[in-house]
Order: sequence, then structure tokens, then C-alpha cells
Amino acid sequence: RPDPLINRCSVHVTCSDYRMALQRVAVIGAGAAGLCAARHILSRPNSFARPVVFELTDNIGGTWCYDERVGNYDNGRPVHSSMYRDLRTNLPKEVMMFPDFPFDPQLSSFLPHQEVQRYLERYCHSHNIRPHIRFNTAVENVRPVVEEETTTWEVTSCDSSGGQKTETFDSVFVCSGHYSDPHIPDIPGVENFKGEVLHSHSYRYAEPFSGQSVVVLGAKASGLDISIELAKVGAQVTLSHGRPRLTFPLPSGIQQSSPVVAVQDDGSVRFQDGSVGRADVLMFCTGYNFRYTFLDADQLSLEIQDHMVSPLYRFLTPPAFPSLFFIGICKIICPFPNFDCQVQFALAVLDGSVSLPSRAEMEDEVRRELQEKVERGVQRRHLLIMEKDQWEYCRTLAHAAGFPPLPPVVRSLYEEVWRQRQIHPQSYRSLNYRLISDTQWELID
Ligand code: FAD
Repeated sequence: RPDPLINRCSVHVTCSDYRMALQRVAVIGAGAAGLCAARHILSRPNSFARPVVFELTDNIGGTWCYDERVGNYDNGRPVHSSMYRDLRTNLPKEVMMFPDFPFDPQLSSFLPHQEVQRYLERYCHSHNIRPHIRFNTAVENVRPVVEEETTTWEVTSCDSSGGQKTETFDSVFVCSGHYSDPHIPDIPGVENFKGEVLHSHSYRYAEPFSGQSVVVLGAKASGLDISIELAKVGAQVTLSHGRPRLTFPLPSGIQQSSPVVAVQDDGSVRFQDGSVGRADVLMFCTGYNFRYTFLDADQLSLEIQDHMVSPLYRFLTPPAFPSLFFIGICKIICPFPNFDCQVQFALAVLDGSVSLPSRAEMEDEVRRELQEKVERGVQRRHLLIMEKDQWEYCRTLAHAAGFPPLPPVVRSLYEEVWRQRQIHPQSYRSLNYRLISDTQWELID
């Protein structure tokens, strides 16, 4: 039998050693990415102290926390969520879920946003994350402090009473999302437009647009969905975009046009093909900018532009400061599984189970990857679009950090749904799927 005294003593020493060695992580944002970061930090109590999750609003969920308000909150900060009332997910729950946390199996595959919010609440509850979230607390500044070989981070936050606080952490996870700051392309003469100008960030529901003529700029996910919603309430929609003409059936209230190039002096809208039209509303569905008000790009040797943050090794961390991680920065991905892989990889870097190459090597790799994309003809503003590369990316992270890769069925169902979306944008959400194994799914009634 072990000597109880020795045992107690050694336990004591071990605990205090651990306590000294535990890393303190700040997580900015309690949306899906921040919750995922907190969940994995909490599951590694031997390496990490309990995280501090800073959340601007009074709730978890980020994008999925529907807020009818538009513009600013009472405290003057801009409303975060761009969710609209009748949105249903564009991915089925079978692939949208965090790999280790399924949605309720009773639910259909494509969910109203309220169900995703409920799912995130359940995730938060079952991993006991809530006690670690500081609600109504905005991160205002994140500053690296370099002393000899060690970098720590000073995080300054402001709570609802206006009280500012600066605390020190060993690393920071930026999980603040990038669907909040509207990107509005420069359209000459837009100030001449006589009607309403808004961005999809401030669109909530279609009824106010009934009977109006609306020019929707952009035909990606939101542009298409919102056009269909508007047509259903009897708006006349001109879907203006620079993509090849959409060939799938659209509701009769939607006509397509080339991109808007200017608003003329008399308020009429001029399109690229030379045609001119009048409208009551200009609705920009033109995407969002990256915006990190709490970071100083120069200090981090980063370039932060509307559509680009670079260099980020593995789309995650600046080579000059590899204890700062951006979770979920890539576009056109399967978000929750992607966040899960990134978070686990980042924690493996921090706990030493993954060693990163030197700063110069990481910078080289990023430069090479971006250069290859540019040579393939990818526009600079699309360099963070991952699309098909996402599967190999997640597999590489899993392999390096030693966690299970995403099962192949995630990719196969994601790609099938993507195909269906291109052909039947109005009805693909009525299909229901079931996973049969790690490699197979089936369509169910
Ligand atoms: P967010 O959800 O934006 O969360 C960020 C959090 O950070 C927020 O809670 C915010 O308040 C907080 N925060 C921001 N700045 C600060 C600060 N300075 N200090 C403290 N807190 C801060 N994905 C899918 O998988 N399926 C879909 O069907 C789908 N549909 C979408 C529809 C719309 C309209 C939009 C906009 C996105 C959609 N997405 C969809 C993508 C969606 O954004 C991701 O699924 C995911 O919710 C992003 O999570 P996040 O945590 O990265 O960001």
C-alpha cells in the first residue's frame, strides 16, 4: 500500500506544479467557434486553466442568436447577428454538427435558425461552458507583450457598466465571427438613389417590401434566399449579379440582370449591359468585411484588409505570434466541423504536442500557398475561400495533432447538398438525410 503521507505530499506538489504550468486562454466571442474553443480547453484541465470567454452581447450563439434590432444596441455598439427571421440552414444537420455532438435526431435535416440556437445552448450546457463566459463584455484591445523568449497577451475588455479591465493571458482565440461588418461595394452616384438602401445584415423579414421593386445586388447564399423570400410576398425583384446567368427555375417575381454600375443623377439604376431601371429599394447582399477593432495589425505583422487577413499559418495563426489563433476565418466551409479541427490543432500547438516550423518557414509556406492560388486565377478577395480544399485541410490538422479526422460521410453529404442547391435552390431543403455509417448516407422520406 502506498504511504498516505508520501502520497499526499506528492499529490500536493503535482497539483501546484500543474497550477503553475496551466495556460490561461482568452476566447473572444461565445458563438459556435468560441463555444467550441471553450469546450476543448475545458476538456484538457491538465494543460489549461479554465478559459475566460468574452462575449459582447447578453447571450451565446453569435450569428444564431436572432435579434430583430438593426443598427446599434443601446450601448451604441453595432448589432452583431445578421440572421433573418425565416432563415433555414443551408447545410443539413447531419454535416453541420460538431463531430462529437449530434443534433436532436427527431429534427428534419434543414433547420430553422431557432433550432441551431437551441443546439448551441445544449452544447454550452452539456460542457458547462456558461460559468466561464463574461456576457456584455467587449474586448477592446489585444496586445502582445514580448519578454525574452516569451509572449503573453494583454487583453483589455469593457463591461456593461463601462468598467475597463486589462488581464494577461498566455494565448488568445479570436472567435468574433466575420458576418457582421457589411461590405458595400463602391457604386458611383449611390447617394442619388431616392429609395431605401440596405445591406442584408439589416434585413429581417420580407413583409415590408411587399409590392415594392427591389434590386438585390449579389446572388450568393443570402442574395438568392432573400430574393426568393421577397418574391413570395409579391415584391418585384431584380437579382443583379456578375455570375453566369442562373439556369435553375426561379420564382416568377425574380428577373436576373447584370451588375449595377451606377445610380444616375435622377435616381435611376444603370446596369452593366447598359439598361436602366427604377427601384424602391437597393438591397446589398454583397458579403462582409473582416474587422478586428481590438487588434493592431502592424504590431502583429499582419495585413488585415476587408477580404483578407495574412499571413496566417494554416489559416490560423500569425507566424510572428503563434499563440494567437483565428478560428473560422475561412469562407465556404462546413463551419462547425472546421472550427472543431482548428481548435484541436491550436490546443495541440499550445500544449506542445505539435511543434510548428520556424517563423520564416511558416511565412514561406503561406506565401507559396497564396501565390499558387493567385496563379490559378483566384482573385485576391477570394483567397480565404476554402471550398474543396477544406477536407484535405481538416485531415492534415487531424493527422498532425492526432485527433480523429472527419468521417468521409461529411464530405460526401456536403457535396451532394451543394449539388442539390445549385439545381433546386427553392426546394433542396425539403430533403431529409440519415447517416448510415462513417462513409454512407441515405435519403429518407
Ligand atoms: P459568430 O456566430 O458571429 O459569433 C461571434 C461572437 O463573438 C458573437 O457572439 C459576438 O457577439 C462576439 N464578439 C464579436 N466581437 C467581440 C468583441 N470585440 N468582444 C467580445 N465578443 C465579441 N453556417 C452553417 O453551418 N450553416 C448555415 O446554414 C449557415 N447559415 C448562415 C446564414 C447567415 C445569414 C450567416 C450570416 C451565416 C451563416 N452560417 C451558416 C455561417 C455562420 O456564421 C457559422 O455557422 C457560425 O455561426 C459562425 O460562428 P462564429 O462563432 O465564428 O461567429
